[in-house]
Amino acid sequence: MLTVAEALAAILERVGPLELEERALDDALGRVLGEDVTAKEDLPPFANSAMDGFAVRAADVVAASAEAPVRLEVLADQPAGSVTAVEVRPGTAVRIMTGARLPVGADAVVPVEHTSGSGSTVQVQRPVKPGGNVRRAGEDVHAGEAVLRSGSVLRPAELGLLAAVGRSQVRVHRAPVVAVVTTGDELVPAGQALGPGQIRDANIHSLGAQVWAAGATPLPVPRVRDTREAVQSALVQAWGGCDALVTNGGVSVGEWDHVKAVLEELGAEPVFWGVKQKPGRPMAFWVWDGKPVFGLPGNPVSCMVCFEEYVRPALRRMMGFGWLHRPVRRAVLAEGFRKDAADDRTHFLRVVAAESEGGLVATTTGPQGSGILTSMVRANALAVVGGDEGAVPAGGQVTLHMTDLPEDH
Ligand code: AMP
Ligand code: MG
Repeated sequence: MLTVAEALAAILERVGPLELEERALDDALGRVLGEDVTAKEDLPPFANSAMDGFAVRAADVVAASAEAPVRLEVLADQPAGSVTAVEVRPGTAVRIMTGARLPVGADAVVPVEHTSGSGSTVQVQRPVKPGGNVRRAGEDVHAGEAVLRSGSVLRPAELGLLAAVGRSQVRVHRAPVVAVVTTGDELVPAGQALGPGQIRDANIHSLGAQVWAAGATPLPVPRVRDTREAVQSALVQAWGGCDALVTNGGVSVGEWDHVKAVLEELGAEPVFWGVKQKPGRPMAFWVWDGKPVFGLPGNPVSCMVCFEEYVRPALRRMMGFGWLHRPVRRAVLAEGFRKDAADDRTHFLRVVAAESEGGLVATTTGPQGSGILTSMVRANALAVVGGDEGAVPAGGQVTLHMTDLPEDH
């Protein structure tokens, strides 16, 4: 059976970035850029006013003060979005709006707050330096400059910059469509009253949401009964419409656990089955005609933890992200964690991590059974006690995966 590190490595070496696609800016948030973007023009494209006020020649107002204001003749109004032909000559000014192009002859803008008067004259009460309150052409980006490199993650700021340099479409890595197949005769939809022995299908929602949260798109597949035929037809159908498959449940050694046998009958290449970890021991992984297939155990905590630790990094690699892993921190574990010397599994404890004076303190979120969904609800991190580590005494150190924070390596 593989260790956690071996299992993750086995998955990551079998997935790679999906091809590039052209997307409109408003559909590109969170995607990874697949091209270098160069500015064709200066940004801003022309010198313009940073304030509402008066475009002047700085030399004209060197001596201006509140007691002895300098009087200038106002030749024209210069709103944003048009260009006046008027030239600012000595002794004159142009009334100008923020963002409007600086008229010829002017080299500075006096803010309206430092003036008085109206109509065709203005009294300037303070001097302004040459270049004062003027945004130079190209002060943000010069024509010919590379503004974003391939591999950049498109956040709101990157999308704004792309628009500003004239791009309405960009080439980004495609986001995978991920089929989530939940199995189990006991499962009914969330809105349904329970019959004898039935439970509601929680995982189709938590896993689907984890797919969305990773930036990928879940492919809805109707939940599947525990028969070979049902499992087979669902898998074949799902495979045809997805880039990656997540199966849920039916991957243990029980009579009704058909996922493994059916997948392998269909030609999926088994990579591993079983990881030295708790929760999530029966996790499996296959590659089926080039597509990754993650076999997640059905327990609601196990499947979410396995998604977080294995599926999410793999989906990120498919999306072209360089950073695959959540921030790792060291913390004090408030209460102790018992672990036998012979226990070589990695344990993932659901914890609340909080800053305190002495640093980060992690407190487990109550009972840690793999079916206790509330233990996930309260958690903001997973404490990872490695297979080669022993018990952790109360106040001892643990490693955390910060599952509410964005990946940083
Ligand atoms: P399995 O891996 O199929 O043996 O399932 C392990 C446990 O998880 C069983 O108690 C199942 O009832 C439960 N389980 C399986 N699938 C789901 C699901 N989609 N939603 C909630 N619980 C589930
Ligand atoms: Mg089952």
